[in-house]
Amino acid sequence: MVKAVFPGSFDPPTYGHLNIIERARSLFDEVLVVVAVNLQKTGTFSPEERVGHLRRLVGQWPEVSVHVCDTLIVDFARKHGCSVLLRGVRSVQDFSYEFELSVMNKGLDPAIETVFMPTDPRFFVLRSSAIKELASFGGNLTGMVPPAVAEELLLRLHPDKTT
Ligand code: ADP
Repeated sequence: MVKAVFPGSFDPPTYGHLNIIERARSLFDEVLVVVAVNLQKTGTFSPEERVGHLRRLVGQWPEVSVHVCDTLIVDFARKHGCSVLLRGVRSVQDFSYEFELSVMNKGLDPAIETVFMPTDPRFFVLRSSAIKELASFGGNLTGMVPPAVAEELLLRLHPDKTT
């Protein structure tokens, strides 16, 4: 029984995140998607709103659950019996950051392995920050985030567009 944690800010969840979660279902018995709370950053959506979006998006997959975490991810993983930390990698830049993070996490808990999953080429340019910038100009978010997420993003960041 291998359980994996997939942590991130998910502000907002994108098709890139969903693709990683969907592919992880065939590798692991359980996938725990974790909205990691960053006390230094207030997001566009609150952690509870992000959990709500994610739960609606993964609701059809019984082996996937969604959580919030305001502690170290390795502590969350240990507490929930997860031996894998799953991270998506879009680029060489992502990889160098993720590599350092994985070494740090390995130092914190040697029993937990980081697994990198390369992005699907369809989604390699999807980045939550860029999507939010596009939304603030009322740009078309089709193919980047699911329609319900796009609608709420535009309402939040470009209210004129939706009224
Ligand atoms: P973002 O960089 O979009 O703000 P998060 O901090 O929410 O992303 O990322 C959570 C995890 O999902 C990270 O491992 C990140 O590398 C991965 N990820 C984000 N976007 C993509 C994508 N388009 N394809 C593959 N993995 C992704």
